[in-house]
Amino acid sequence: MQTNNSLSLANPHPPQLNWAQKLSLALGALGGLILLVAIAAPSDLNMQSWLWPSLGLLTASGLLYTYFTYKDKPAGIKNDGNFFSSLSHRGVVGWVLGIIITGFYVLLYYFESYLGFNENGANTGLVQMFDPLSMFLKGKAASQWFVYGVLYTVAILVMGVKFIVKYRHNKYQVLRTISVMFFQLAFAFLIPEILEGLNSDKAYFAKDMKNMWPLNYYFFEDWHLDNMLSGGGLGMFMLVLGIAMIFIISPILTYFYGKRWYCSWVCGCGGLAETAGDPFRHLSSKKLIAWKIERWMIYAVLAIIIFVTGMVLYTYFTGQAQILFLNTYTLRSAYGFWIGAAFSGVIGVGFYPILGSRVWCRFGCPMAAILGLQQRFFSRFRITTNGGQCISCGNCSTYCEMGIDVRWYAQRGQNIVRASCVGCGICSAVCPRGVLRLENGPVNEDRFGEPKPIIIGRDEVGILS
Ligand code: SF4
Ligand code: SF4
Repeated sequence: MQTNNSLSLANPHPPQLNWAQKLSLALGALGGLILLVAIAAPSDLNMQSWLWPSLGLLTASGLLYTYFTYKDKPAGIKNDGNFFSSLSHRGVVGWVLGIIITGFYVLLYYFESYLGFNENGANTGLVQMFDPLSMFLKGKAASQWFVYGVLYTVAILVMGVKFIVKYRHNKYQVLRTISVMFFQLAFAFLIPEILEGLNSDKAYFAKDMKNMWPLNYYFFEDWHLDNMLSGGGLGMFMLVLGIAMIFIISPILTYFYGKRWYCSWVCGCGGLAETAGDPFRHLSSKKLIAWKIERWMIYAVLAIIIFVTGMVLYTYFTGQAQILFLNTYTLRSAYGFWIGAAFSGVIGVGFYPILGSRVWCRFGCPMAAILGLQQRFFSRFRITTNGGQCISCGNCSTYCEMGIDVRWYAQRGQNIVRASCVGCGICSAVCPRGVLRLENGPVNEDRFGEPKPIIIGRDEVGILS
């Protein structure tokens, strides 16, 4: 019989995968392998019939893994072994996954022909594999963005199911996850693709009804404004909706609910971070220096996009592209290359296993910056803390994906009113003492709560005799 001589109070042995979990992951690896073969296959090899087997294997893998992981566990959050796992704690598996995702994003943004996209002829390879589905939904061949949309949506749906099962005891998490799954499937994928097919005679304009400037940084670019203006009823609708989202709908919703209405319930970037990114949320740095860097970076990106958009609108209304030594077309393509693609895509998702799941939302997203400013100064949202109950375990800080040191506030019984908080509610969900509550209340000074000294409960103080 094996004996355990460790004196550790925690289980010293990292949990091992059982055979059923391994088999489930093997199915997923097979599905991923089909996608890789499609990328590497010779251009005359047609792999269209492999689309559904590949997506089926990936989906079955996620669902079976979820079933075998949680079937015997009672409801309640299990983050067992997170800091022992090679995947979730920057081990070899994590690094390899990070490199694969980053590599895929680099191909997607900068070398789409390697994925098989052919603007002037028939697609090959991976993109060709998705042609039948694209033909069905919008009546034309796939692009690399269609491939990306399908894989992105499948990832959110499958990992969303896993997230719901893991957090099934918490109604807020279940509803929030159903919401991001719905908005991704319907508003970001199906509806835009179908509308694209129904309006194929019109030039392209964004049809994702929840995507607004400045996250959609090209909204005010001349070609996009022109395409919406000449896009008939739908084009006008998207133009009016886009402007209403920025100036009316978003401020009202943020006033009532904080930035969580968008960042944790609607946004596709947040949707992926919350579902597929869940195993990596504890990797966000909680250091003070990270908070300082975060504030400099996110507001710098906001200032840049406001400046670039101002220049772009100047060109639109005056027809002049050159302002002193600056060319507005060069500026907008530089923003698209470095921030729209490299930062939000390649680093934002590729670095999940290294820097945590909200790198883009925390350090770069100008939409999050605007919503955050409003949340901080003019919103009813706050997280209240019952400091007397806090046992300083630090679970809340550990699992805050935005790197907020929640415990620091909880120990002092102070409300958390931070611009960066996306209202995911995980800090509250993982707290063993029910200290944290996400609330909406009046906008007044009480919202911030008075800074108090660290609270020590009566039971923690004893007299030595
Ligand atoms: S403070 Fe809590 S609700 Fe806010 S981002 Fe962090 S974990 Fe989510
Ligand atoms: S998880 Fe709860 S008990 Fe633990 S430090 Fe945070 S507020 Fe305190």
